Amino acid sequence: MTHILHRQIHASLPVAKGGRGVELFDEAGNAYIDACGGAAVSCLGHGHPDVVDALKKQAETLAYAHTSFFTNEPAEQLADRLIAGAPEGISHAYFVSGGSEANEAALKMARQYFVEKGEPQRRRIIARRQSYHGNTLGTLATGGNEWRREPFRPLLIETHHIDPCYAYRYQEAGESEEAYGLRAAQALEDRINALGPDTVMAFVAEPVVGATAGAVPAVSGYFKRIREICDRYGVLLILDEVMCGMGRTGTLHACEQDGIAPDMLTIAKGLGGGYQPIGAVLLGQHIFDAFAEGSGLFQHGHTYICHPMACAAALAVQDVIERDGLLANVREMGAYLRERLEARFGNHAHVGDIRGRGLFLGLELVADRGAKEPFDPARKVHAAVKKEAMKRGLMVYPSGGTIDGTRGDHVLLAPPFIIDRAVADTIVERLGEAVDVATG
Ligand code: PMP
Repeated sequence: MTHILHRQIHASLPVAKGGRGVELFDEAGNAYIDACGGAAVSCLGHGHPDVVDALKKQAETLAYAHTSFFTNEPAEQLADRLIAGAPEGISHAYFVSGGSEANEAALKMARQYFVEKGEPQRRRIIARRQSYHGNTLGTLATGGNEWRREPFRPLLIETHHIDPCYAYRYQEAGESEEAYGLRAAQALEDRINALGPDTVMAFVAEPVVGATAGAVPAVSGYFKRIREICDRYGVLLILDEVMCGMGRTGTLHACEQDGIAPDMLTIAKGLGGGYQPIGAVLLGQHIFDAFAEGSGLFQHGHTYICHPMACAAALAVQDVIERDGLLANVREMGAYLRERLEARFGNHAHVGDIRGRGLFLGLELVADRGAKEPFDPARKVHAAVKKEAMKRGLMVYPSGGTIDGTRGDHVLLAPPFIIDRAVADTIVERLGEAVDVATG
């Protein structure tokens, strides 16, 4: 009997006993290739000796010092490093313990920014359907997952949702990618105007949608237009790269590939690679200045902000990625894995779409490929793929059912940046069997 209240009350979960490289091991000695990094977390795989050493050293030196008394070296160094590699205009970092906390802090920064600027009427958030931004009340309100929101609806702050940029589902026949991107972005301008431009404070979006849709990047041109619209109406653009950021798509930040810089960028998961819980808001100079010239401080804070162990882990993870040239491996292995997925599933009767960027790839599973007809949600095909994959020693991240009125089953792959061709081949082989069984 377990005394742990798990997110899903699974009595049957195996006990993870150890991890080394791309594999995790359970109590019974079974090995699993971690082809999703848990939830796109374990970017260096498991048990990386350099990160373990850095953590030991930090624990011996300083485990914790409260930020109202001290700053600390790992936090200062990590901030310097992240700002050096950040998109244009980003000048400061705010360290928290995960993705929800990062997005929650970003929402509060946006609100306080407008209070400081003398525009307190700006309080509305626009986000997108089929998105996930976290499970705290503010981020739950912001995300587009109706199932997650339902029981908490009376507690949620005011948010408004537009359709995501999701070519497989929403691009019309005969419509060019460029025209579709502009049409999808136009939904934001229309909504801002409908709500009243001076009441909107922020637009929040994932550059590559992860947990709710299985690695869906926007078409080219979409985010450029989004940036223009936000600028035109003075709306802050918050990009949530909690899942798709920190190298996962082959560039440090996914938005680099969209050619834009946000006002705030949130990161987590791959930042610490799972070795410690950590997330961050990277914010623009104008946000910092509004606080500095106004009340003087960001009115927020948790006990574990800037945690030295968490920052030390993140520094070590980022050092290894740079030293070992792992972003190049993400690009190379991403292209290879995609090629193998296309070879295996390109003509599969139940795989409608193969998509993603770098080592952040997804499959959309359908009952009828020609008609793009989703499976009956009651079949829980995504969950069946996960189960069949686990039986074959493979971890993949499923999502599906009915998300905000859109039915679908998706499988997300986000393997560690250290994979080679042999591991990619094994992932595709095991996934192929799991998908055949689950969709058959
Ligand atoms: N944003 C995105 C895009 C995510 O994928 C997640 C986690 N799946 C979060 C926010 C929330 O992060 P956390 O679970 O660390 O709070």
